[in-house]
Amino acid sequence: MSILRNLGGIVAVLLTIAVAPPAPAAEMKVTLLGTGTPTPRLSSFSAATLIEAGDQRLLFDLGRGVTIRLFQKRIPLGSITASFLTHLHSDHVVGLPDIWLSGWVGTPWASRKTPFVIYGPPGTVAMTENLTKAFAEDLRIRTADEHLPAAGIAFDAKDISPGVAYEKAGVKVTAFEVNHGENIKPAYGYVVEYDGKKVVLSGDTKYDERVIAAAKGADLLIHEVAVIEPDLVKTYPSYREIEGHHTSPEEAGRVFDQAKPKLAAYSHIVFATVKPVQDVPEDALRERTQSTYKGPFVIGRDLTSFTLKDGGITVQRADGSTVEPFKAQ
Ligand SMILES: [Zn+2]
Ligand SMILES: [Zn+2]
Repeated sequence: MSILRNLGGIVAVLLTIAVAPPAPAAEMKVTLLGTGTPTPRLSSFSAATLIEAGDQRLLFDLGRGVTIRLFQKRIPLGSITASFLTHLHSDHVVGLPDIWLSGWVGTPWASRKTPFVIYGPPGTVAMTENLTKAFAEDLRIRTADEHLPAAGIAFDAKDISPGVAYEKAGVKVTAFEVNHGENIKPAYGYVVEYDGKKVVLSGDTKYDERVIAAAKGADLLIHEVAVIEPDLVKTYPSYREIEGHHTSPEEAGRVFDQAKPKLAAYSHIVFATVKPVQDVPEDALRERTQSTYKGPFVIGRDLTSFTLKDGGITVQRADGSTVEPFKAQ
């Protein structure tokens, strides 16, 4: 037993050593943790984006598998500074109970000791209150059994309006409203600024000029996109509504063309076909986008990262390989 305990200690130390350090002060790093939607694809979990700036680690949306992707990056769940929700569709929030509860456990990969900071549209505070009720037994058990700190499982939640949502340690987050359809209001995009750098997240939206306005002068614009096969609508009429809430590749190209960010990237790729195809048809997505936009862009995949440094942006895939953005001749 004592050998096992010692082994556990060694593993804990190794994991502690392997934990990723904060991003260097002059850098801003964006990592796509989930580029997908409710579709349960192994290659693309649902919406979540990590932005590291200075000593801040911010999450934008908490979709399915956010804890797994953070673990892959060796980022302790308890080290997240604050989380922001674009809207309350399930594919943007189903990872919340997991990161909130698992991030509290007293391990090298979790150990949150301060409240879980979360900002989002109206309904966010109610969701945190209801989750606290839903998981009351786990809270009771772990408090009595593992003696985890009460502060670590508390929420510091706020329902926010458009405007500056957060300003701390040189990082400023501003919410702006986007058009995700009549029944999904409000839905937000976010502008994140740090050390003269600017990253814009569209959130879920149709073509919306407010995204263009927010993304003027941005280094990086991360935009959603939808590719839905017309035949699918015949069998599943709800795809018509879904399609109506999102941006086509041609429309996204028009957004990029007018906003002119240094680099544009797709995440939250709504991709629905009659046949159960696993991977996003990147060639078709590139061609359709380039019919309206000639500038540089990248099709995001889970764990694609963007490092903003010295006026440039380095894009890497999960395996560390560097990506050359598409650019029309
Ligand atoms: Zn949505
Ligand atoms: Zn969505």
